[in-house]
Amino acid sequence: MSRKHKGGFRSPGGTDSMKVTSVTDLPGLQVFPCPVCGLDDVLPMAGELRRCACQRCGTFEITGTTVATLGDWATDKPRLRAGLSAYLRQTGLQGIVPRLTSELDLTRIADSYCHTSFQTKLRRVMERYEELTSEPGDLVLLNDDLDYPLFDAASPGEVGFLTVVLV
Ligand SMILES: [Zn+2]
Repeated sequence: MSRKHKGGFRSPGGTDSMKVTSVTDLPGLQVFPCPVCGLDDVLPMAGELRRCACQRCGTFEITGTTVATLGDWATDKPRLRAGLSAYLRQTGLQGIVPRLTSELDLTRIADSYCHTSFQTKLRRVMERYEELTSEPGDLVLLNDDLDYPLFDAASPGEVGFLTVVLV
């Protein structure tokens, strides 16, 4: 059964198929901050399944219900949000577009990225420097603000600290 929208537009897929809506599908329409990390202007306003192309979390898909669930995390669960961001970014690196739905235990997934050892984080920061370097001795800058999910870090500040330890 298809729903009628305002203005007489019919939903093409009915309710069974989940059509992915991305920011580029809706030119000129309002977009919202990333529901996971809060980076600006990446989440389409509407759609059953929305594609979010976040520079910090990478590209992922999320259902409207899950966007609402994460709204509750806004103030009281900053560490879990960083963990979820790490999950998304690192899954994306494997060539997978992760999909956040209400069937997933988001707290458990996020939490599994919140207890990474200090040594592992340091190693990842070093590996990232290595990736960015083409010649030994090159000046390389990490983008702490966008790349902290790569290291399971809680914030850009933690990446700054890890970098200081390395130097
Ligand atoms: Zn994000």
